[in-house]
Amino acid sequence: MAKVLMIGAGGVGGVVAKKMAQNHVVFTEFMIASRTLSKCDAIKSEIEQFIPTKSVVTTAKVDADNVPELVALIQSYKPDLVLNVALPYQDLTVMDACLETGVHYLDTANYEPKDVAKFEYSWQWAYFDRFEKAGIMALLGCGFDPGATQAFTAHLAKHHFDEIHYLDIIDCNNGSHGKAFATNFNPEINIREITAAGRYWQDGQWIETRPLEIAQDIYYPKVATRKSYVLYHEELESLVVNFPTIKRARFWMTFGDAYIKHLSVLEGIGMTSITPINFRGMQVAPIEFLKAVLPEPSSLAANYTGQTCIGVQAKGIKDGKEKVHFVYNVADHEQTYKEVQAQGISYTTGVPAMIGAMLMLTGVWKKAGVWNVEQLDPDPFIAAMNQWGLPVDELAGIELVKD
Ligand code: NDP
Repeated sequence: MAKVLMIGAGGVGGVVAKKMAQNHVVFTEFMIASRTLSKCDAIKSEIEQFIPTKSVVTTAKVDADNVPELVALIQSYKPDLVLNVALPYQDLTVMDACLETGVHYLDTANYEPKDVAKFEYSWQWAYFDRFEKAGIMALLGCGFDPGATQAFTAHLAKHHFDEIHYLDIIDCNNGSHGKAFATNFNPEINIREITAAGRYWQDGQWIETRPLEIAQDIYYPKVATRKSYVLYHEELESLVVNFPTIKRARFWMTFGDAYIKHLSVLEGIGMTSITPINFRGMQVAPIEFLKAVLPEPSSLAANYTGQTCIGVQAKGIKDGKEKVHFVYNVADHEQTYKEVQAQGISYTTGVPAMIGAMLMLTGVWKKAGVWNVEQLDPDPFIAAMNQWGLPVDELAGIELVKD
């Protein structure tokens, strides 16, 4: 039915490729292309070994920072959609290549310049007119958070509330990989996110906090009660625009004490800095060196135990009455490893990316322009989550996150 070019062959790329192979009726052909060809070939060989599929899978080497190289690959492979699971630094070059070739686009994280630790949608939203004029669609941030969390918010707005007033996105990884310190997705992107100032939306403006300044214990259904910290997360930016009744929107994530201790030492000695230093005649950003020292996120999968719980709590008004409602998913690291040889964080990101691509390619979600997940009908997305390995659950009337 459809042909996809996937760019990036890391932890998330491995899951997307395997879920596309499982869904071979839609993804009849796909190419895995990345900077390191051997990683693409390794995913292809795992598919051949573990996933019964009729998809025709090929691999290629590409530098996604290089628009002409991307354009040449797209023109020779002729995909219907480019699924970008490389790094946020590559979003704009891949979007440029899609515009030049007239191909749909999907990613899982918003653009971030390499030399400034700052992410926001403005750069990608600025492509709206050009995508609309070209008659092609770009779907931004279609992983779990961002991604499924926005579909959950749209579901809450469509089925449970007349007005959402307070939104809390909560993200718990209660898993254990047995390493002293490791990040669950790309270390550079992850550490840049966590060491940045916190920020949340309140009464029409952003309130800035020191990194990890605000914390509370939150009960994550079926998983655990865990200390959780307010972070700034990219989907807050689009949610407060698309649901203007929201008075306060926050994002919470769990971190263990040992994780925070390692991170604060690394930060204290300058190892998380993105400013290059001269080392033996070479310009090296300490955080890039740190990434090279830390375990690859995909390598954590084999020994990972425990679960993740990610969900959205909304408080607001329905039929004139105040109410609270929570929508969430629980994923199990051991089960995801059994199914696609991946840990739960890569899995919960990769499955929604495959689902978003499926909905675009089958015409269920089809809109020229540049869109965030909450702007599309959540029903088929949530139905597909239930079908493709991320069961969605709901809890009514219990306030998990306190004011
Ligand atoms: P990894 O670091 O494991 O993988 C990134 C891949 O991109 C690697 O294969 C890397 O190649 C490739 N790559 C990097 N630069 C280039 C380039 N210039 N050209 C071609 N390929 C390149 O990251 P993850 O798989 O953990 O994350 C992938 C994406 O998913 C990231 O954008 C991350 O922010 C996002 N994410 C989103 C989440 C969500 O819920 N929305 C959650 C988790 C992650 P090489 O192997 O050579 O380095």
